[in-house]
Amino acid sequence: MKNFRRFLRSFFKTLTFLCLGILLSASFLPFRAAKAFPAAEESAAIRTVGRGETVEHLFTHCLIAHPEVAFAENNEYGRHLDEDCLTPDEFRRILGFLYEGGYALADIRKTFRADGESAERIPFSFPADKKPLVLSFDDVVYATKNLGKGMADRLVVTQTGDIAAYTRAHMPQIHGNEFVPILEDFIAKHPDFSYENARGTIFLTGFDGILGYRTQRDSPDRTAECRRAEKVVKALKSKGWSFGCHSYAHGHMNRYTAEKMRSDVRKWKDEVEPLVGKTQLYAYPYGEWTLGKNCDDERQQALTEAGFRLFFGVGDKAFYTKMPLGESAKKVLFQDRCAMDGISLRSNHCARFFDAKLVYDPSRPVSFPSQ
Ligand SMILES: [Zn+2]
Repeated sequence: MKNFRRFLRSFFKTLTFLCLGILLSASFLPFRAAKAFPAAEESAAIRTVGRGETVEHLFTHCLIAHPEVAFAENNEYGRHLDEDCLTPDEFRRILGFLYEGGYALADIRKTFRADGESAERIPFSFPADKKPLVLSFDDVVYATKNLGKGMADRLVVTQTGDIAAYTRAHMPQIHGNEFVPILEDFIAKHPDFSYENARGTIFLTGFDGILGYRTQRDSPDRTAECRRAEKVVKALKSKGWSFGCHSYAHGHMNRYTAEKMRSDVRKWKDEVEPLVGKTQLYAYPYGEWTLGKNCDDERQQALTEAGFRLFFGVGDKAFYTKMPLGESAKKVLFQDRCAMDGISLRSNHCARFFDAKLVYDPSRPVSFPSQ
């Protein structure tokens, strides 16, 4: 009996040591692995991108998540989608071209600094072997009137904390045919495509809510929808996504009075800013800007007074500098963005980034023009 007790004691002692040993080695394992395999970012040489250097900026809209619906013959709205948007396959192919071309994502917020009412570009660090690229996505609203016509219905956070798209009329309803999950997948496979967690900027309007949630003032279910939208915003921010203003109503601001402009920006500040946080980024709807002589146009003033410091237009060439170019007491920091959509693919506007012919989705209703 005594011998048996002794045997038991020594057995449990050995077992305890064994368990401790396993635990200790397990806790050091990730540390050792991290030492043995440094992240691509850590090992890459870093340089400084100067104030005058090219920072490319490409933008598009929500993707045509369901081309078979969008491009069906009886879908009138599909014509707009064909002109203004990319299909998921096209976006995937474009990312491949950008990566192969040596581009990596830069966070636009790290490229400038605001000083009082003005802003200026600043030098920023970047991998020595990469070219800085900014991506942005406009009109991420999934407007009620266009649901079921070829786009997703909204962005959602999955049970695993990932961001996906949801379309009620499709199986599976939760899917990855949207720019967020596609870009996240791509970065997971190619971590060196994103420097310091850079993602894209999402430019939001407010007239029909944001991200597919009806958060606008007249929404019947506003409080609950705001809560749902906030969950998605939080998940996006934690991945590195940023937000900007794209006006509240998406009107033609060059036809606005100063008063209408003020009211538009006020609504955005009241309804969208509380959901996404303060932002200094403003993308003019339709790329239409009104600076006026000496930047003294009252509509532009309204935007400056609201706290916006970096303004985005639409243009094919890389352009990121203060405007106007000539002598002026006041200037605003301005960047053009090259559009990626059906029209720009067919006219090969983005030729310096990718070969549109190889990107083009054959399911589009218009075939790629023969050159
Ligand atoms: Zn827009």
